[in-house]
Amino acid sequence: MWGCFNGRDDLRFKDKVAVVTGGASGIGLAATRGLLAEGAKVMIADADVERGEHEAGELGALCDFVRVDVRRPESCADMVARVLERFGRLDIAINNAGIPAPPPPSFETLPVEDWDNVISANLSGVFYAMRAEAKAMRAGGGGSIVNTGSVASVVANVGMPAYVAAKHGVAGLTKAAALDLLDAGIRVNAVGPGIIETPMTRDALRDPEIAAGYLAMTPAARPGTADEVARTILFLASDDASFTTGTLAMVDGGLTLR
Ligand code: NAD
Repeated sequence: MWGCFNGRDDLRFKDKVAVVTGGASGIGLAATRGLLAEGAKVMIADADVERGEHEAGELGALCDFVRVDVRRPESCADMVARVLERFGRLDIAINNAGIPAPPPPSFETLPVEDWDNVISANLSGVFYAMRAEAKAMRAGGGGSIVNTGSVASVVANVGMPAYVAAKHGVAGLTKAAALDLLDAGIRVNAVGPGIIETPMTRDALRDPEIAAGYLAMTPAARPGTADEVARTILFLASDDASFTTGTLAMVDGGLTLR
């Protein structure tokens, strides 16, 4: 029954090439470290040049950095071109770059620029990146894509219309791409993190009132870690998830259960 595990190579990503958007920080950096630890070559792709270059420099010769602004389609195409130039192929893409939503004074007064910015960074950026990645993966015989959604991919919260719309969009786009790319041997999945301690949430989690509110929402009664999200990302990216495509795997300590 367990024969399928016989002779399994523990390095799930040996000889694989990965790109991680938003890889310079938080969840993306944890995924980058995990991929490297299991044998992949990894391109960190991020808008933050200083941090990206620093982290890639720390992580060694199998890691490199490319600047990307996922809000721009041509920047995503350049990102993939750089991966191919540097590492020769693309097998795994983690589309994780994202920004939080500045809370609007009210729904009616949400500035259109804020709406556009959140939708373009958190939703359109995933599409632009996937389009460029899929082309390279199809040419290379297949691949695996994991997008970072959120609990906001399945439930709404007060004061976050653009973020909730974008993250619901990521879940839908993941399903659509999973169907469209199946013939190319490309699986597409997403993770839905709950409240995770990263630079994005660190200040809020330091505020006792906000932190208490977050924890009251989470049955596990603690924030998650970037590593806990990265482990699910790596599972979905790996051949361990070979029959899984189009799914949104929640990593939320039970937040969306009630
Ligand atoms: P983070 O701020 O630590 O990392 C986000 C990274 O994305 C940064 O390095 C940033 O420079 C990069 N980035 C932002 N805009 C970009 C752009 N236009 N182009 C390229 N890079 C860009 O945050 P994190 O918590 O690790 O978030 C990662 C993802 O997880 C995001 O998509 C976020 O929405 C999602 N998420 C986070 C939480 C949480 O609680 N931390 C919960 C649910 C979902």
